[in-house]
Amino acid sequence: MGKRDYYEILGVSKDASKEEIKKAYRKQALKYHPDRNPGDKKAEENFKEAAEAYEVLSNDEKKGRYDRFGHAGMSGAGNGFGGSGMTMDDIFSSFGDIFGDAFGGFGAFGGSRRGGRRVNKGTNLRVKVKLSLSEIANGAEKKIKVTKYNTCNNCGGTGAADSGSLATCSTCHGSGHVTRLTNTMLGQMQTSSVCPSCSGEGKTITKKCLACYGEGIVQKEEIIKINIPAGVGKGMQMTVSGKGNAPRRGGVYGDLLVVIDEEEHSELIREGNDLIYNLFISIPDAISGTHVEVPTVDNNVKIKIEPGTQPGKILRLRGKGLPEVNGYGRGDLLVNVNVWIPKSLSKEETRIIEKFKDSESFIPKPDKNDKGFFERMRGYFEG
Ligand SMILES: [Zn+2]
Ligand SMILES: [Zn+2]
Repeated sequence: MGKRDYYEILGVSKDASKEEIKKAYRKQALKYHPDRNPGDKKAEENFKEAAEAYEVLSNDEKKGRYDRFGHAGMSGAGNGFGGSGMTMDDIFSSFGDIFGDAFGGFGAFGGSRRGGRRVNKGTNLRVKVKLSLSEIANGAEKKIKVTKYNTCNNCGGTGAADSGSLATCSTCHGSGHVTRLTNTMLGQMQTSSVCPSCSGEGKTITKKCLACYGEGIVQKEEIIKINIPAGVGKGMQMTVSGKGNAPRRGGVYGDLLVVIDEEEHSELIREGNDLIYNLFISIPDAISGTHVEVPTVDNNVKIKIEPGTQPGKILRLRGKGLPEVNGYGRGDLLVNVNVWIPKSLSKEETRIIEKFKDSESFIPKPDKNDKGFFERMRGYFEG
């Protein structure tokens, strides 16, 4: 398969300035960054492709050669990309600075690969937390038990039995990567790769810590306290940074991801930040009016039913719903009034009801201008 044109990959013209090339690469690299596309092979390929294009176009000598000979000028062994291709570590150690300011500000990306040298980050932990409607309305402090990896106290995460058994790697002299100079037809080339002796850690262990078997981490149960803000909803995810797993042999902790789940309320239905209550009243109460208690998330409130209330009437109790998760505003409690029509009556009741059969007030006239009717047809949310 033929290689794509480097200018095309970065989306710049042949006479683009160095600054334009750098900007174009930065855009591509951020878009396909592995932290933003975990496990996405295609994104990884694009990420590598962009890095390769930038490697060449940002270097005057290589760019000149590419302009004259195209990809043929690049295929000489030892230029770092030739046969072996570029590893993710090569990209981060060569161009890590390009991400510096972009990822510095993000909690999720920060610190993972700063300053060219790789910093280990532990894996994230994910937990599900089920909340009652009252907890959602008021916010909640939850204690969650998790089994996670923490830095080994015995060795401080180094994995070594003592300070004497931790030595600077003799292959890379502590830098974590090795560079090689190769003479080729096209001149001297420099290759950089992760140190094979210490896997990039810069140190080797001569005697392992007995508490963690040299891993630098130990698994244990921990209770983590988390504050959940009011107004959250099912499926929302909160990130508690630094409360995930510790990485092997030092580095920064991963994050704890808290996924919100909701317990169903016995009487109230949630619809966004509004709550719905389905109320039933009797025929006499609908006719004469009454006071009834309706539940809210925290307590019951008394509401007035006006005489002559029609079935399907929606009563809106402002501010009795759930708060917005950002802290501004609150939803309403919508009381849907139903009038219960009994299916069977006692003899006495039947006798009384029969009396109203021919009463004028019990026979409504058709009214196409009944606004309440349109309201009910449109649903609960325009009342
Ligand atoms: Zn240890
Ligand atoms: Zn090494």
